[in-house]
Amino acid sequence: MSTNDSNNSAYNDFHLQFIAGEWQKGKDDSTNTNTNPYNGDTLVEIQQATKDQLNEAYDAATQAQEAWAKQTPATRAAVLYKVVNILDQRQEEIVDWLIKESGSTRIKAMVEFGATRAITLEAATFPNRVHGEIRPSNTPGKENFIYREPIGVVAVISPWNFPLHLTQRSIAPALALGNAVVLKPASDTPVTGGLLLAKVFEEAGLPKGLLNVVVGSGSEIGDAIVEHKAPSLVSFTGSTSVGKHIGELANGGEYIKQVALELGGNSPFVVLKDADIEQAVKAAAFGKFLHQGQICIAINRVIVEDEIYDDFVARFLAHVKTLNVGDPNKQDTAVGPIINEKQVKSLKEKIAKAQEEGAKMILSGEIEGQVVPPHIFTEVTREMDLSRNEVFGPLVGIIRAKDEDDALSIANDSMYGLSSAVFTADMQKGLRFARGIRAGMTHINDISVNDESNTPFGGEKNSGIGRFNGEWVLEEFTRTHWISMQNEPREYPF
Ligand code: NAD
Repeated sequence: MSTNDSNNSAYNDFHLQFIAGEWQKGKDDSTNTNTNPYNGDTLVEIQQATKDQLNEAYDAATQAQEAWAKQTPATRAAVLYKVVNILDQRQEEIVDWLIKESGSTRIKAMVEFGATRAITLEAATFPNRVHGEIRPSNTPGKENFIYREPIGVVAVISPWNFPLHLTQRSIAPALALGNAVVLKPASDTPVTGGLLLAKVFEEAGLPKGLLNVVVGSGSEIGDAIVEHKAPSLVSFTGSTSVGKHIGELANGGEYIKQVALELGGNSPFVVLKDADIEQAVKAAAFGKFLHQGQICIAINRVIVEDEIYDDFVARFLAHVKTLNVGDPNKQDTAVGPIINEKQVKSLKEKIAKAQEEGAKMILSGEIEGQVVPPHIFTEVTREMDLSRNEVFGPLVGIIRAKDEDDALSIANDSMYGLSSAVFTADMQKGLRFARGIRAGMTHINDISVNDESNTPFGGEKNSGIGRFNGEWVLEEFTRTHWISMQNEPREYPF
């Protein structure tokens, strides 16, 4: 166990891979140049990993997992509690990395840090919460035992938007429950999405080989990480298009494996005519523009009942105009930079398309570097691109609904079903409306952006399969084994 310098020096060596418990150089010819999305500074250059290094990671994970699964729950829990301590001690360092690597505003980085800490604490309870069952049998003399065992090796592929949290919400439960992990972080966030967490777990004394972080290009190791024989579960968080590909690979190749897919969203935010408009306006701004709208559960469609539409639009416009845009490191910045140039280009295309389709742009602004200021469109219809597809940026369309039924019909008119929200003064009406929404999550009088470590997080339809957090992830990251015991000779028909 190396419990050296948590209060002293900042972590370094982020140009290396973490495989089999060793920090080693990538052996591929290609390099990942990790840059700050706000000012373009190079943060670190990482020589990428080869397929051989991925295989090495899987071998180490397979080997280490057996002994780890046999450890007492208290031993595994202790590592997770230590991780929480280290996160606390290094909070400033971690928040700083989130700001400079993922373009998180300080506000968002703190939200992400809090969520990461919470799921780690929750995961620390898992070793002692996991349990089996005894079920009655209709066969005389038989006893049925249902064991819940570690699943083995888990492949984790995570995105760049909440890299620390969305990686940790897979790896902390996986490790707590006696599994080993091979992780591929997103190319834009190799540090906060992987290498930084590897440092934390190493410092917490996690035995070698249980957590491997492999930074590589999609073309070299993307498919291989899924197709490899070792993982029994692939936990993927990212876009629906890549998720579909992962699902096909995981079930169409030589080795069938379970998949947990947390994919894209298109969250409706519905404001009914009896809502507290001022509160709804503030909520809409935060739920839309936090992290520049680059959140799977961000508000994607604002749907407002006709009677209050104009009033809502006027107040929303006035409020959004007050938001500070620019340097994510400043305490009061609400909207920082977009993660990369490709995403900026896609947002420019969406702005042009919205206008072509007849939406009215009532707020826009100069795009400087990768900073895209808030754009608001009104008279948006359910058929428009802004309504049909995930925006993943600080652009918002406001749709007019004739009445409550129309609002529900618009809200459900999507291929996605991740999160959603409804504002109303009447809680019974809110509950009825919420239950009518086909989504994994709905929040009454709050934003669609909510994640609590003890409540089920996940979606329906094209938003994915499976749930994170609490006992839902506990089931996801373990396997069920029915073992029966025949205590007296059974009579067979022949
Ligand atoms: P992405 O699908 O482009 O990438 C996600 C991860 O998959 C990255 O690590 C990437 O390197 C990897 N990847 C890409 N191609 C691969 C391949 N062929 N094989 C294996 N891995 C591959 O998504 P992104 O742009 O990083 O993230 C944004 C998307 O993620 C949005 O659609 C967002 O809604 C979604 N998302 C969903 C959730 C959720 O919980 N449902 C959370 C965050 C983000």
